[in-house]
Amino acid sequence: MGADVLDVLKARLAEDHLEILGGFACEDEEGLPPGTRSVLMLGPAEPGFWARLTAAPEWDGGPDPVDRWSRRVIGRIACDLRAKALFPFGGPPYRPFYQWALRTGRVWESPVRLLVHDNQGMMVSFRGALAFKQVIETPPVAERPCETCSKPCLTACPAGALGAAGYDVPACHAYLDQAAGNDCLTAGCLVRRACPVSAGYARLPEQSAYHMSRFHKAGRTA
Ligand code: SF4
Ligand code: SF4
Repeated sequence: MGADVLDVLKARLAEDHLEILGGFACEDEEGLPPGTRSVLMLGPAEPGFWARLTAAPEWDGGPDPVDRWSRRVIGRIACDLRAKALFPFGGPPYRPFYQWALRTGRVWESPVRLLVHDNQGMMVSFRGALAFKQVIETPPVAERPCETCSKPCLTACPAGALGAAGYDVPACHAYLDQAAGNDCLTAGCLVRRACPVSAGYARLPEQSAYHMSRFHKAGRTA
């Protein structure tokens, strides 16, 4: 039964350029819908995701188009597969996506503490998760890429805002306000881009620029 659901799910996700980034088994766990036995975490699959999203009706100039698209698309898939859709936005309270990701065995804390995925590197992002009442085969665990890496993420930030000590968010925003910060704003965080695993994932600079502009705008108004 689990394998059938998984095949249907993968086909549905592929239509919308989403993919399973990892999953974990559980049993009657607090914070999850009653009876949940499996959680699968979903994120963009490039190439194709950004083009699909920006052609969708949610890309209408209104607020939070990515979240609205995720709610509609993942919500519909959940309904069709008798799963429950869970989202990393819409709080507080927020679902513990960071901790869930670590449980998949395919996502780890990087040396700068941001998450790193075995295929998507530091460009990993979650659009939602599906909670199933049946046991679903979860993707196999992988080897943490940082173990054999020269760790360029530790020194890539020109502002010294993101490194082994973590993320100095005000220092990052201060750098983005300068002309030198334009590269980060238009093509994405240099730390995330420095990761060799990120480099192998086809995320478009336009997507990174969109998220950077939202991050920086929120920082200015905080
Ligand atoms: S650059 Fe290397 S050490 Fe840093 S997150 Fe990527 S794989 Fe891990
Ligand atoms: S966006 Fe730029 S300034 Fe901010 S942490 Fe990343 S590399 Fe550093």
